Parts: sequence; structure tokens; C-alpha cells
Amino acid sequence: MKNLLDGVEEILLMGPGPSCVPPEVYRALSRPTLGHLDPYFIGIMDELKLMLRTVMQTGNRLTFPVSGTGSAGMETCFVNLIEPEDPVLILVNGVFGTRMVDVAGRLGGAVDALPFEWGTPVDPQKVKEQLRKRHYKIVAVVHAETSTGVCNPVADVAALLDPDTLFIVDTVTSLGGMEVAADAWRADAMYSGSQKCLSVPPGLSPSTFSDRALQRIKGRKTKVPNWYLDMGMVIDYWDGAKRAYHHTAPINMIYALYQGLALILAEGLARVFARHQSMHHLLVTGLEKLGVEMLVSPNARLPMINAMKVPPGVDEAVCRAALRSKHKIEIGAGLGPLAGKIWRIGLMGHTARPENVDRFLGAMGEVLGRR
Ligand SMILES: *Cc1c(COP(=O)(O)O)cnc(C)c1O
Repeated sequence: MKNLLDGVEEILLMGPGPSCVPPEVYRALSRPTLGHLDPYFIGIMDELKLMLRTVMQTGNRLTFPVSGTGSAGMETCFVNLIEPEDPVLILVNGVFGTRMVDVAGRLGGAVDALPFEWGTPVDPQKVKEQLRKRHYKIVAVVHAETSTGVCNPVADVAALLDPDTLFIVDTVTSLGGMEVAADAWRADAMYSGSQKCLSVPPGLSPSTFSDRALQRIKGRKTKVPNWYLDMGMVIDYWDGAKRAYHHTAPINMIYALYQGLALILAEGLARVFARHQSMHHLLVTGLEKLGVEMLVSPNARLPMINAMKVPPGVDEAVCRAALRSKHKIEIGAGLGPLAGKIWRIGLMGHTARPENVDRFLGAMGEVLGRR
């Protein structure tokens, strides 16, 4: 029988994630698998936690990767912090804010969704007005809304919150590509994903919890309604002297994340962020030359995910298919109300390099017949 893996091609991943994986990370994945309680592996876990604290800009002791993709990180934050009937405010301007509403609602939270037009950022003034109407135990926002390319003003929202309101922040797309600062944002729970700007394959969700969040979890009246993601138990594996078995850590994925973080820290966070920003400018300048417009106004644009409008009369799916089959480039389509109207061009992590931007602009120009 033919092995399908022999036919896997190298595709330039310029969509909303996964992003291109650097060779060092592929090598890390193929290191020998150790036992999940092996002392050498525990040493790797400990150093990984320190690197994550630096990248997430937090002193939180409980900073580690949840076993699962970004959505598992989202689920972990909500399932541990919400109890039935808790008032929760979620700021929604895209797919991932909408997903938070679904997750929080399934847990029995009394959820208010404050909507903003897709493609525009959350307006702190409207948040302020909403916070006057009701006292919330939890407020949640997505920093980088991958579905639209919008950056939400997390620090401005944080400044409006009551001291006893817990703040949940989604940094799946932003972490490793722009400034993310859990402590400065007074975030109580923050989660990310391995496959966006960290340029590691999908499968881990770096997450962090403040001491206030841990207090809230300890003081719960009801058990966390999900065994796998219960922080009260997971913490005994990732932290402290006990190192008790909870679930088998995805060992080789942890090697990969370790290597991905090491590469980012070796380059230096400031340089990594500047590289994302300059690749974003290179892309936008090139697209403007092709006569293509951006969806988001310049002050709210994310560097790592760029929403461009599909020109009138162009079939977006046909272009995307041509990019994939002829040029071996993957880009993202629009979602929800933006389906058929935009493309999303990712410049995440290892993808954010000049040769990739040039290759994409050349291919897009050809596909649009505008070169
Ligand atoms: C990708 C993404 C998620 C979900 O992550 P998965 O790894 O697909 O589960 C959540 N939030 C944002 C902002 C994302 O971009």
C-alpha cells in the first residue's frame, strides 16, 4: 500500500494558522520520547514554564501549556472559572468572541454578549456603559480577532474592570507576534495556541492563571465540571513537588514548544515583534500596488493576520484554489458575515519573512491578472 505521508508537500502556510514550522522545531519533534514522569523531562517542563512566563510577560506561577489546541485553552479558562448563574460579559467582534459565548453558555453562565461590528475593534466606551448596568464576575475579550484581522484594546478594557472581576484574554493569534502582557493587563486567565505566531504544530495551548484566578477556583461551590481540564488536578502534575500523574503529557509536542520558544527568545521579543510589523507593512504596500483594499482601518490592524477585500467580480474560492494548487500557498477565506468578501493573509512566526511576502505578492498578482 502506498504511504500517503510520502505525498505530503511543503505548502507555504499564509492563512490564519497553522504557520510554517522552522526546521529546528521539526528536529525537536523527532527526539526520543521520554516518560512523562522522567526526571529529565520534568527539567524540560520546568524550563518551558520559565520561557512561557517571559513570552506571556507574567510572574504567574501557574503558566504552562494545556494539552490541546487553542480552543482547549479557551475551554480550560471558562470551565475552571465559571459557576452556574455567574454573570459573564463577553466582547464579541468575530468568530472567536462568538465561540467564547458558546463555551460560557454551555457551562451555565449568565452570559451577556456585547457585540461590535466585525472588522472594527471593541469600543471601550460601550464596555464602560455596559459595566454600569450589571456587576460581572468575569469579563472576556479576544486580543487578536483572527477572523477579521482586528486588534482589540485589551489594556483599555482592563482599566475599566472592578477589582473583583476576573479578566479572561484570548491571545491565540497575538502571542509571539506582538506585545502580550498578562500582568500589565491584569489578566487572570490567558490562553494561546502553539500553531500561530509560535510556529509550532497545532496541539498545545500555552496558558496562564493569576493567583486571584486560583483563589476563585479553590473557592468554587461546585466541582469543575470537566475532569481533563480541572486546574486543581492538572496543577499537581505541572507544579510543586508532587508531580502526580494526571494525564500523559504530549511529550514530543512539549519538546517542539520548548524549541519554538527558545528560538523566539534567542531572536529577542522586541526584534520578533518588529519583524512581524515590517512584514505587515511590506504586505500592505504590495497589496495596495495591486489595487487591493484592506478591511480594517490602519489603527486597528493586526500585523500577523491581514484581511484584504476580494476585488469586485473576483471569485475568491477559485483564486484561493489556484494559489494552493499552482503556487503551493495557503491563505484563509472569510468567515460568517465576511465569507466570500475577504481573504485572510497570515504572517505568523516563521512565515513572517520577506521571501514569503514577495512570493505571495507575485502569486496573487498572477492569480488576479494584475501583474
Ligand atoms: C485559532 C484561534 C483559536 C482556536 O484555536 P484552535 O487551535 O483552532 O483550537 C481561538 N482563538 C483565536 C483568536 C484563534 O485565532
